[in-house]
Amino acid sequence: MTTVLGCIADDFTGATDLAGLLARSGADVSLRIGIPKVQASEAAAFEVIALKSRTAPVSEAVSEALAALEWLRTAGAQRFFWKYCSTFDSTPEGNIGPVAEALMEALGTDQTIYCPAFPENGRSIFMGNLFVGQQPLAESPMKDHPLTPMRDSNLMRLLEPQVTRPVGLVDRLIVARGADAVRSELAALKTKGVAHVVVDAVANDDLTIIAEACREMSLMTGGSAIAMPLPALYLSDGVLSRAAKGTPAPNLESDAVVLSGSCSAMTNRQVADYMARGKPAFRLDPSELAENGPDKALEWLAAQDLALAPLVYATADPASVKASQEKLGVAQAGAIVEAALAACAVAARDAGARRFVVAGGETSGAVAKALGVERLNIGKEIAPGVPWTFCQSGGHDIALTLKSGNFGSEAFFTDAFEMLETA
Ligand code: ADP
Repeated sequence: MTTVLGCIADDFTGATDLAGLLARSGADVSLRIGIPKVQASEAAAFEVIALKSRTAPVSEAVSEALAALEWLRTAGAQRFFWKYCSTFDSTPEGNIGPVAEALMEALGTDQTIYCPAFPENGRSIFMGNLFVGQQPLAESPMKDHPLTPMRDSNLMRLLEPQVTRPVGLVDRLIVARGADAVRSELAALKTKGVAHVVVDAVANDDLTIIAEACREMSLMTGGSAIAMPLPALYLSDGVLSRAAKGTPAPNLESDAVVLSGSCSAMTNRQVADYMARGKPAFRLDPSELAENGPDKALEWLAAQDLALAPLVYATADPASVKASQEKLGVAQAGAIVEAALAACAVAARDAGARRFVVAGGETSGAVAKALGVERLNIGKEIAPGVPWTFCQSGGHDIALTLKSGNFGSEAFFTDAFEMLETA
């Protein structure tokens, strides 16, 4: 199979989110963690490479993106997508603009679009300004992000210092007039030398219009949602065949484990809901882990019946998280918990678990790494942005779902296993 669209994502859960939205169409989607070391044989119609470059030095982010581009080209891709966060997480140095400009140069193209809108998740763009729900980006909690504080809501102003060529806008009034109007405005901007075009979108219908107008660009950039209409458009254009269906779920043993390292409000409710159903659960205490390591948790896990899908969690309310962080340091507390959950994942797999539900973005990265996962085939979506994935770990087929922060509903853990039964 030749790859139709090659995608490069600047972080891991962002890549999963994009892969899940592309797979909604039923298309064959594959996610690779880092630049694959293997040849691009057996590539899927949609290939997503997850980098970890959102806050990396600019030169590193650029060279990784270029290496990813090369691999995707060898997979046959001729169109590419640069995926970043729907809150445009970046600094005046980068990395959104510099990577886009480097990819444009490598592809020999002189215009691309920027559309981080994700209406289903409350991210919309109007007159070049990005909103999070009803708040302008710079008034949303993103203004206090520890690594990429967003202190301006205007995407043109945010992008300008990151790029060398002119920045422009196709506004909502043009988008509302349809794909032809968007196309002609882009062409008009191109004659004026505008290389970087922010495009307004407030609803899914806008995304369909924009994707229709831009689907032949060699490079599109944005959040995950602007890529969502592409599989259907490619099918109607005939560049994607109907045969390119997602891989069916493998037949897996039902032994399972739930590992939760997210402390978001929703994950706290999901853990409580799962325990209220009488599921066996073990709470990780960061201080105890710092002193004695994960042995107690591993002993507990070894004594469990994995057919019951036991839960190991560090999920805690904000006050206890703060207490652990004050005692151990933020980074240290996080690393200790991640290492313990990763060890539990490996132990569970070695004891026969083949289904894994993991909660937490960083936690997911740690678990996927420990399980030695390099490639994930994307299956059914359990909740918006959270699909089941199928991969290989230690020579076994496994199912893995990686849920970031506030995603999913209260019954997510139970829903996930039920969906696998009906997959
Ligand atoms: P989310 O997707 O909700 O942000 P992450 O896994 O990305 O979840 O981040 C949660 C971080 O908090 C991880 O580094 C995890 O190890 C850490 N953590 C989990 N539980 C605790 C706790 N009880 N105290 C301190 N840190 C914790």
